[in-house]
Amino acid sequence: MCAAKIHDTSHITYEGLLEGNKQFVANTLKIDPEYFTQLSNGQKPPILWIGCADSRVPANQITNTKPGEIFVHRNIANMVVHSDMNMLSVLDYAVNVLGVKHVIVCGHYGCGGVIAASGHEQNGLVDNWLRHIKDVYRLHAAELDAITDQKQKVDRLVELNVMENVNNLTATSIVQNAWKNGKDLSVHGWVYTLSTGFIKDLKVSFNSNQNMDEVFKFK
Ligand code: ZN
Repeated sequence: MCAAKIHDTSHITYEGLLEGNKQFVANTLKIDPEYFTQLSNGQKPPILWIGCADSRVPANQITNTKPGEIFVHRNIANMVVHSDMNMLSVLDYAVNVLGVKHVIVCGHYGCGGVIAASGHEQNGLVDNWLRHIKDVYRLHAAELDAITDQKQKVDRLVELNVMENVNNLTATSIVQNAWKNGKDLSVHGWVYTLSTGFIKDLKVSFNSNQNMDEVFKFK
């Protein structure tokens, strides 16, 4: 059996990125000479994407969208942590200033953060962040402990982590106030499959606080 090959990045250099940028500008202007002028006038993306920092899951490329079309927040394992000022600021701006219609939490199978959280090794500072995923495990321990195949177990934890982060979004005053004020806003949970490129919709969408756990509902 040959060793699994990973994408070769040995040709990527610091200077190469700047060269790549020049090519991007030239190629883009060839198609649309007004492209950058128009983009510089402002943004009105209808989507907020909360995804993993993993280099293999770039929001625009995998959804065939362009700059200006998705507002993006990424962190390790696409977490929605209710005390994270960075995430809350992005969410508040996206919902209340940009007026996005959809917030999507997109996880991915094979997520290093989720794999680490399901194990017992110490990984340094990041363990404090990954603790939130261990909390997800604890909430769903009965289901997860019953899965004997380790890969299947982690895949399911990836899905459950997305679902819990969707719940965490609905629990924020930002999302609940948007609903209370009659804003058209839905939150969704997706998982990207690295090995095929396809996105799976977990069908855990919310567009009101009706089906939420009672304790998280604000008046
Ligand atoms: Zn990841």
